[in-house]
Amino acid sequence: MGINLDLEPFMLNGVGHERPLVMAGPCSAETEEQVLKTASQLNDMGIKIFRAGIWKPRTRPNAFEGVGKKGLPWLKRVKEEFGMLTATEVANVNHVFESLKYGVDILWIGARTTANPFAVQEIADALNGVDIPVLIKNPVNPDVELWIGAFERLNNAGIKKLAAIHRGFSSYGKTIYRNVPQWQIPIELKRRIPELMMITDPSHICGSRDLLLDISQKAMDLNFDGLIVETHINPDKALSDASQQITPATLKDLLDHLIMRKSNVENTLLLTTLEELRHEIDTYDDKLLGILECRMAISRKIGEYKKNNNITILQSSRWDEMLRKRIEDAEKKNLSEEFITKLFRAIHQESINHQTKVMNA
Ligand code: PEP
Ligand code: MN
Repeated sequence: MGINLDLEPFMLNGVGHERPLVMAGPCSAETEEQVLKTASQLNDMGIKIFRAGIWKPRTRPNAFEGVGKKGLPWLKRVKEEFGMLTATEVANVNHVFESLKYGVDILWIGARTTANPFAVQEIADALNGVDIPVLIKNPVNPDVELWIGAFERLNNAGIKKLAAIHRGFSSYGKTIYRNVPQWQIPIELKRRIPELMMITDPSHICGSRDLLLDISQKAMDLNFDGLIVETHINPDKALSDASQQITPATLKDLLDHLIMRKSNVENTLLLTTLEELRHEIDTYDDKLLGILECRMAISRKIGEYKKNNNITILQSSRWDEMLRKRIEDAEKKNLSEEFITKLFRAIHQESINHQTKVMNA
């Protein structure tokens, strides 16, 4: 189903569609000095759009929730002193009014907000008749319809300068990513609304600095338009998202390492499918390792119990029963008896090794 949105192509500070369009700045505005120093260094590198969170949606209370509106004059100074465009997150009517009052140039809707149609509608109503670019992050859950719904709500309120930010999706259990990219979702959004600009947020996908280049390169190989990267003058001291922030100098290095390939649609799609599947495999393998780690921790607890109660490590009947049950369950999952037997023998042996260590400790 094609989506009919009334969109207007727009240029962000003249950067337009020159790829990659780069937005950078700290996760949170913390102090006036931090904001101005970061902006100054980014401006020196030619970055034209400055991002900074003023109100921070934190998963748990008592974390740093942003400086609030006292940070807005700092963004105004960035604009005045460096001529950069400023961007911040809005999650409610109050955020919208305050941001507009201080001349913020670009608004974005955060992932948690996009997941909530009431909140998106409230923001859309508050923006009715205002001509400002709005970037919409994917919802935390991998639901492309919900993402599209947010674009429709904003567009119905007359906002025509819309773009998407892909920041990955929540998942239960440990993975190498803070938010798994699930590239097929932004790809599907682009298929449904081809004229939409797509900006990838490697910072919130990765959660740590070391994966940023990989994800940024991948976004460019998918022919996405831009990157929004959290950048801080002193990342380790950042009040939010410290482990994923990088200095402006590191950002420059990252951008210098990006290979910009020509967009050859057929090849891109082929590459995408294969790489997407490989990424999924990597994610599952990573989960498997996490599960094995947890399983061995339990084995060691059992080892302690056996030690304290003078019970032998191996009870053949339990092992026999366990293997039989696993083979039976695996059959329903299309996994062969041979494979499951080998796999659980190896797991069982590793358990015994862990317990033996506990016994002898
Ligand atoms: C952010 O960009 O700082 C942010 C809070 O992002 P998200 O909504 O993607 O979690
Ligand atoms: Mn952040």
